[in-house]
Amino acid sequence: MVDFLIVGQGIAGSVLALQLLKHGKRILVINNEETNIASSVAAGIYNPITGRAMVKTWLAEALFPYLTRFYQEATQTLGEQFLHPMPIFRPFLTAQERAEWLKKTMQENRTDFVEKVVETTFHQENRVCQYGGIVLNQSGYLDVKSFLKATRAYLEAHYAYVEADFVYDYIRLGNHISYQNIEARQLIFCEGPQAKHNPFFSTLPFRVVKGELILVALHQPLEVIYNRRIFVLPQTANQAVVGATYDWQDVSLRPTEKARKILEEKLRDTFSLSYTVLDQRAGMRPATFDRRPFIGLHPRYPQVGIFNGLGSKGVSLAPYFAKIFVEHLLLQKKIPLEVQLSRVGFCKSV
Ligand SMILES: Cc1cc2nc3c(=O)[nH]c(=O)nc-3n(C[C@H](O)[C@H](O)[C@H](O)COP(=O)(O)OP(=O)(O)OC[C@H]3O[C@@H](n4cnc5c(N)ncnc54)[C@H](O)[C@@H]3O)c2cc1C
Repeated sequence: MVDFLIVGQGIAGSVLALQLLKHGKRILVINNEETNIASSVAAGIYNPITGRAMVKTWLAEALFPYLTRFYQEATQTLGEQFLHPMPIFRPFLTAQERAEWLKKTMQENRTDFVEKVVETTFHQENRVCQYGGIVLNQSGYLDVKSFLKATRAYLEAHYAYVEADFVYDYIRLGNHISYQNIEARQLIFCEGPQAKHNPFFSTLPFRVVKGELILVALHQPLEVIYNRRIFVLPQTANQAVVGATYDWQDVSLRPTEKARKILEEKLRDTFSLSYTVLDQRAGMRPATFDRRPFIGLHPRYPQVGIFNGLGSKGVSLAPYFAKIFVEHLLLQKKIPLEVQLSRVGFCKSV
């Protein structure tokens, strides 16, 4: 008998699995790598200041220090470095925006994630960043692919990983869970966008969003992540990932010409970088209607739970909210209302 059977080993399932193992729990992860359509595409950026208004992201003070601690601990456990702290440069788009941002920042004391404010041209060769911008700290990227691969190897070494498609029909619910020849105290779904097929949770209001990225060869090296309207994440001295688009209508996983054109246009207009497109990828974000995760146990079947809805911020949300969920599962601590399933009226009638 295992304590937790986890379905899915994207960012959510990996982070949850590592935290449960750290607490000495017996777990088994069932995952079909081939159906991963979120973490396998993610650029892995974590960024404390986002949006048009360049404001701190939700819960930034709690999420960002904790994510650094979590992924550093994962490095010790898994023996590889995955987290790559890197400044993010966010240019001002006009002189007026710069003046307003500086004024507001002084008033609202928004500077804790700002390494420095550049009030003049950031890069001499870069005409579009002529209004300067802000350079962020506590930012960077997670090498998601390596993190998932190393987590899988670790789980395999602990006999805690099965590569297979999870079939809902085989679940038997009693005081605990039976699934084929597996017995578990609780079953936790971390299926990302595939949760729409889940008979326990498919009525949760997900708002899955397609996203596309292009890989480009750059004709000049970048030392920081650029982020405004799109991001440009240096991968090697002369390659970068550029993304991402948001499309709520297209449910196909096909890369589109439309998305490539949008990304290229923004790349030229915002950053004036010269480049050659090498590749293009598409995926789906497991987003929710209110941009908050779905975390908790099923109201009618408390042996079954969900850890999902990480949207476009899996890297920064997963560590903190896995900790919250683990404390709920092991110590019955309350889950914050903002991420509870009951906030969307998901109640005992389901
Ligand atoms: C283009 C793009 C760019 C992005 N960039 C970033 C970024 O820079 N930073 C960031 O933080 N986030 C980014 N994201 C968002 C990020 O990808 C998600 O937040 C995150 O990957 C969600 O992880 P997850 O584990 O919930 O889902 P997933 O990664 O989808 O993992 C779910 C896992 O469950 C498995 N699974 C599902 N159903 C079954 C089943 N029946 N049987 C067996 N296995 C099953 C799947 O195969 C998969 O491995 C981006 C997303 C996209 C699309």
